[in-house]
Amino acid sequence: MAGVEGLGNIAARIAQINQQITALSPKAAPTRATGTATGATASGQTFATELATAMRSASATGTSSITLTKDGVPADLVQYGNGRIPANALESIGRGGHRLWSPAADAFQAMTATARRDGVTIGVTDSYRSYDQQVDLARRKGLYSQGGLAAKPGTSEHGWGLSLDLDLGSKAQAWMRKHAGEYGFKENVPREPWHWTFKPSG
Ligand SMILES: [Zn+2]
Repeated sequence: MAGVEGLGNIAARIAQINQQITALSPKAAPTRATGTATGATASGQTFATELATAMRSASATGTSSITLTKDGVPADLVQYGNGRIPANALESIGRGGHRLWSPAADAFQAMTATARRDGVTIGVTDSYRSYDQQVDLARRKGLYSQGGLAAKPGTSEHGWGLSLDLDLGSKAQAWMRKHAGEYGFKENVPREPWHWTFKPSG
């Protein structure tokens, strides 16, 4: 019967695909940065997971050559000064007018692409702030030193184009806590779970 022959062909094709996966998986698996799914089997699902993780690691690897000062500021930015980063060192993060230092913007876009595939929405409420914008914010929200919500102008991580304020539901907050580090982002201000900073090696 033609049906039996068809099934035989499908079985042969599956065996062939499994062989290809087995050949590919050992190359993808060692590049994992983190994770626990080491029990790889020759199934497409596991391979897809391995590949996604390898791609996450690859995107994070691109940030490993960034040199930071002892204050955690990329050496490339110190020359400009906080809140005075030129437009050509900043890059859109693909959300409204929001911008970050270019390597941080790239990492953010890679991170949110993965989040989207995981069904997670990451909203953005603030990003790079110029010195003048920080002055304005401090006027409206008060300085930390006075119980407010704003850093002193010239000292905010937003002024280096490294930090984002995010709008995160509980699922997105949990996702960020699990995965943001793979992209160099850290939740680094106590009692500000919305504030995430690009610190690729810190
Ligand atoms: Zn912030």
